[in-house]
Amino acid sequence: MDFSVEPEFQAKLDWMDAFITEEVEPLDLVFPGQAYQKLDERLRKIVDPLKEQVRERGLWACHLGPDLGGQGYGQLKLALMNELIGRSTWAPVIFGCQAPDTGNAEIIAMYGTAEQKERYLRPLLDGEAFSAYSMTEPQGGSDPRLFTMRAVRSEDGWVLDGEKYFTSNAANADFLIVMAVTDPDAHPYKRMSMFLVPSGTEGVEILRNIGTMGERGGHHAHIRYDQVRVGADALLGEEGGAFAVAQARLGGGRVHHAMRTVAAVKRAFDMMCERALSRQTVDGVLADKQLVQAAIADSYLQIQQFRLLVLHTAWLIDQSSTKEARTQIAACKVAAARVFHDVVYRAMHLHGALGVSTDTPLARLWQSAPLMGIMDGPTEVHQASIARRVLRGYSPSPGLWPSEFLPDKRAAAHTKYGDFSS
Ligand SMILES: Cc1cc2nc3c(=O)[nH]c(=O)nc-3n(C[C@H](O)[C@H](O)[C@H](O)COP(=O)(O)OP(=O)(O)OC[C@H]3O[C@@H](n4cnc5c(N)ncnc54)[C@H](O)[C@@H]3O)c2cc1C
Repeated sequence: MDFSVEPEFQAKLDWMDAFITEEVEPLDLVFPGQAYQKLDERLRKIVDPLKEQVRERGLWACHLGPDLGGQGYGQLKLALMNELIGRSTWAPVIFGCQAPDTGNAEIIAMYGTAEQKERYLRPLLDGEAFSAYSMTEPQGGSDPRLFTMRAVRSEDGWVLDGEKYFTSNAANADFLIVMAVTDPDAHPYKRMSMFLVPSGTEGVEILRNIGTMGERGGHHAHIRYDQVRVGADALLGEEGGAFAVAQARLGGGRVHHAMRTVAAVKRAFDMMCERALSRQTVDGVLADKQLVQAAIADSYLQIQQFRLLVLHTAWLIDQSSTKEARTQIAACKVAAARVFHDVVYRAMHLHGALGVSTDTPLARLWQSAPLMGIMDGPTEVHQASIARRVLRGYSPSPGLWPSEFLPDKRAAAHTKYGDFSS
């Protein structure tokens, strides 16, 4: 397996590296927290020319195939791109690949009708619309079988009724993708369907926007869908097919997110190394201390292992499909939360008071650590899914003792070679 890319694509990555450093990262400092808002005229003057440069280089919306305006580069190249994009909160918007719009665009591309693509996908791809994904409910997120929001057929379409919780960026979204129960008596995985709901539809009410980790304000919406009427054409995919759509949505996205995590932890790691070499103690710099060396070595190991896991997963998807690589994708999700937690904490700790202050990016990064193990499903659910699939490759031991029980193995070996011993 080979993770290198041809020189032409490497040149694109080199261009991205410089472009993100020089043109995009400064946006994070001048316009913090505004990347996922509608652009006003002032920001448009800055952002549109940057997006244009990305388009000219053939790097816009690369998560999509050529038929939808992307390049069809495949997951490995996307992973390498995301390793750069993950350095800046503005970069995903400038490169037309911000979550949750990427996943939403993918499922509309996969399951949408021609009309749905024209109405919802086109503006997303043009970077002129935002979308939100409304799946989690107040009473349960990890297990969709507990969802109760209903969609009932009406004369001319559907009536949606219920509540959704933590719908990210709903306040700025032009439309919402909503999962609702269409047949409560069906098989647990066939009960729900997916709907496309324009944000202004009567009955869609954001009860409040919730912040995370001490944030003022917030952008995760608790939404009440009160007898929301949509047409028959609002159904995305088959009736009862919401689980399949939801699965398709998260496959590639988790790999992109994992590679953006590599970018974030590399930044923390670089800061840790610089600090270790710079900060004096009475008898040398921090880098001379064995415990600090252990922190650096452990972080290095974790990042390398994680990066290779993600690249291997991306490569595997390119060789097969996201379905075939489900165990590896779940492993990336679990590992991302851990490596992020461990490395960012060590880097922050090594910076002392400066590390926990608002004068470096570390404290802000650290605030994201607990979110990583919850969003897109908690760590335990992915661990369970890894274990379930891994165990399919094993069988119980043939008798009372394990297959590796040495007395039995020794006896068998002696039967085979005993005559030749001594
Ligand atoms: C930053 C962020 C953004 C989000 N954005 C969106 C969004 O845009 N759209 C959307 O629909 N949702 C979104 N969510 C919600 C997210 O998908 C849910 O929070 C997640 O699925 C977990 O559901 P829950 O919060 O109800 O936790 P619960 O299901 O109540 O689980 C709580 C804890 O219980 C334990 N647990 C749960 N199930 C199991 C199990 N089977 N085995 C062992 N332990 C278990 C785990 O420790 C878990 O963390 C977002 C969440 C976050 C943090």
